[in-house]
Amino acid sequence: MHTFGPMTRADALESWNAFLPRVQAYANARNHVEVAHHNVSRLSAAIGFRLLLEDEIIEQTLALHSLPAVEKWLQEVCWRRYWKGWLELRPSVWTHWRQRVTLLRRTLPAETLTRVEAVAAGESGVACMDAMARELTETGYLHNHARMWWASFWIHVERLPWELGADFFFRHLLDADPASNTLSWRWVAGLQTPGKTYLVRLSNIEKYAPHYLADNTAGTDRIADSVVMAVAVEETVAVQKQALPIYATSLSETKDRTGLWLHPDDLTPELGPLASIAPVSIAACISDHVYHEIYNLSSQRMVSLHTVLSDGLARASTHFGCTSVSVTVNNPVQGICDWAVEHELEEIVAFAPLVGPIHDMLPRLTQQLGLLCIRLTLVRRESDDNAFSFASAGFFPFWQKMSRHLSQSRLA
Ligand SMILES: Cc1cc2nc3c(=O)[nH]c(=O)nc-3n(C[C@H](O)[C@H](O)[C@H](O)COP(=O)(O)OP(=O)(O)OC[C@H]3O[C@@H](n4cnc5c(N)ncnc54)[C@H](O)[C@@H]3O)c2cc1C
Repeated sequence: MHTFGPMTRADALESWNAFLPRVQAYANARNHVEVAHHNVSRLSAAIGFRLLLEDEIIEQTLALHSLPAVEKWLQEVCWRRYWKGWLELRPSVWTHWRQRVTLLRRTLPAETLTRVEAVAAGESGVACMDAMARELTETGYLHNHARMWWASFWIHVERLPWELGADFFFRHLLDADPASNTLSWRWVAGLQTPGKTYLVRLSNIEKYAPHYLADNTAGTDRIADSVVMAVAVEETVAVQKQALPIYATSLSETKDRTGLWLHPDDLTPELGPLASIAPVSIAACISDHVYHEIYNLSSQRMVSLHTVLSDGLARASTHFGCTSVSVTVNNPVQGICDWAVEHELEEIVAFAPLVGPIHDMLPRLTQQLGLLCIRLTLVRRESDDNAFSFASAGFFPFWQKMSRHLSQSRLA
C-alpha cells in the first residue's frame, strides 16, 4: 500500500500539475477518505520540504480561478503557513512538547507505556483505528480526516497523553511538521481553541470512510457516538508569546567567500531571495544520530530526508554552478563548521530555519561560527514574512488578512 506523495521537485511539479485541474472540486471531495486518497493532493511532504512552494500553488490556482471559487483549497494550503507563523510566535510550545515526550517516557507507569506501544502498533482492539495506525506506519501518510479520528481516539477514548500520540505521528509521517503536527494534536485535545475538543464519532467514519469499517467492525462500540466523552486536557505550562523574529527578505551583493547551507525547511533556493547569490560551495548536513537517537524517526522517514536533501543539492548545484556536498555526521553543528573551514568560507547563507529540529541547533551553530569569525546570514521569503505576521490570533482573522493580501497582490 504505497500512496504517498512525491519526494523530488520534478515529481512534485508533475503531481501538482495533475491535481491543479481538480482544485475546484476539492471543497466537496476532500473530507471523503478513499483508499488511494485521490480526493486530496498528497503534496504535504513536498510542500513541507519546500520542494514545491505555496506561492507557486497559490499563483497557479489564482491564474485559473477566482478566489471565491477555490477558497477552501487555498485556505487549506494556507493552514500550514498559519500554524508555522503561530509557532514562530510561540516557540516554547515546541520546546515544551519535546521535554514532555522525554519526561512522560521516563515517568509514566509501565502499563500505560505498554498501552501506548500497543495502540501505536495497531493493537488497540478497535479494528478500524488499528487499520489507520498500520496505514500510517506502512505508508507514512494518513488522510486529514483519519488523522483527526485517530488523534481523538488516542486522547479521548484511550485516554493517553496527547504528547506521545503526537510523537508517534512525528516519527512516522513523511510530512511530519513541527507546527502542523504539534498544533493539530493540541487542537484535537482542546488546548489550541480552549473549550473546543474534536471527538471521533463512528457515524462520521461510516459516512466518510466506510472502507476502514468494511472488514474492521471489531471494537466499534468504544467509538459509538453516544459513548465518546471529551477528556479535559490541561496546559502543563502557560503558552508564551513573543515578537516574530526579524530576518532580511533580500540579500545585498557580497565579495566574501560564501557558502549556501541547505536544510529540510526549504529546499528550493533557486527560487526566491537566494536565487542570485554566488556560493563557492553548497552543503546539506544530515545527522542520522540526531534524527534517530533524539527523535527516533522511522526508517521510511530517514530515507525521505536523504532523498529530498539529495534532490535539493542536485538542483542547487546546477542552478548556482558549483559543487555540493551532503555531510553526514553525528554532530551537525560541527559538520557545518568543518565544511565552512574546508572551503575557507567567510559567510554562510541559508533560509532561516523555522521552529523545530534545525532551529534548535541555531544558538550553538551561531556561537561556533562566531568563534571561527564566519558570518551566518539567514533570510526569510517575503511571503512567509507577510503570512507569519498575520498569524497572531485564530485562523479566521488570519485568513481575512491573507485573502485580502492575496487579492491585492493579484490586482497589483
Ligand atoms: C493530528 C493531526 C496531525 C497532523 N500533522 C501534520 C503534519 O505533521 N504535517 C502536515 O503537513 N500536516 C499535518 N496535518 C494536517 C493535514 O492532515 C495534512 O496537511 C494533510 O492531510 C496532508 O495531506 P494532503 O497533502 O493530501 O492535503 P490536501 O488536503 O491536499 O491539502 C493541501 C495542502 O494544504 C496543507 N494542509 C491541508 N490541510 C491542512 C491542515 N489541516 N493543517 C495544516 N496544513 C494543511 C498541506 O500543506 C497540504 O499538503 C495534521 C492534521 C492532524 C489532524
